[in-house]
Amino acid sequence: MTATLRLTSPPEMGPGGRHLVLDCLHGTTYLDQLVPPRGSRVILSERAMIAMAVDKHEAEEGCGCARDLTGGQSADSLKVSARADSASVTGS
Ligand SMILES: [Zn+2]
Repeated sequence: MTATLRLTSPPEMGPGGRHLVLDCLHGTTYLDQLVPPRGSRVILSERAMIAMAVDKHEAEEGCGCARDLTGGQSADSLKVSARADSASVTGS
């Protein structure tokens, strides 16, 4: 089974804002990155966002469909570095 991933930059989120949708037969996971407040220079890499979305999806659905999306990368290491950042990441 396969999950699909869409990463967009909706104009209403402002420059740097990202909206990620991870969809599979079992459910859909959303992850937004808002523009960091002034003074913060940290933006999550797309790879880190994907790793976080995959983890969130698997926590919610537990179906394993999204695992392949990390391309064998260690989601844990990406997640740890993402947590160390001060970027604002919120789920829905
Ligand atoms: Zn699934």
